[in-house]
Amino acid sequence: MKKSTLILILMTIVLTGCIGPFKDKFPETQFPPELKVVTRKAWKWKKIKGDLPVPQEIKKITIHHGGEEFAEDKDPIQYLLNLQKWSRKEKGWVDIPYHFMIDLKGTIYEARPLAYPGDTNTTYDPTGHALICVMGNYEVQTLSQAQLQSLVELTAYLANKYNVGISDIAGHKDYAETLCPGKDLYRYLEDGTIQYEVSRRLKKQN
Ligand SMILES: [Zn+2]
Repeated sequence: MKKSTLILILMTIVLTGCIGPFKDKFPETQFPPELKVVTRKAWKWKKIKGDLPVPQEIKKITIHHGGEEFAEDKDPIQYLLNLQKWSRKEKGWVDIPYHFMIDLKGTIYEARPLAYPGDTNTTYDPTGHALICVMGNYEVQTLSQAQLQSLVELTAYLANKYNVGISDIAGHKDYAETLCPGKDLYRYLEDGTIQYEVSRRLKKQN
């Protein structure tokens, strides 16, 4: 084979690869720089293999806690990797059940792609919900101001992007028989702090 023929074949493969059927199914999200998000790519999220669930349209934002106590020295990225493995192997879910996770320091991690509905061990249908989970157990742990701040900023970003009403921001226990997201986190939904802070940010943006 002539060298020029080989180059032509290689060029064709490269070009059809770029524009052809091999489009990235999990495109990277561009977050505003003020929202500090560790992207899926940054924490080495493993792509969903096999059939993808039916896509969803976001209409609600629902807040959770991890439910297990989280020690100060526990590595959040290792926790995400383990949670992903457990969700897929033990539960048969396509991914981590939540779309975003927040660690003890208030760092936000992108988890399951928002295009796909989350999963739950309880009885409500999470289709149409953007699920945010704060690592830890807030029946026994205390939510820090940094965590609350990140939760508010992320919720405001999602509410603005998907046009979610303030009344559609709630906790897991508003939909199912559960203690989630724990009393020390739920109190900020119960007294309207989160809703108030989100609406203040939405007014500034619009
Ligand atoms: Zn929950």
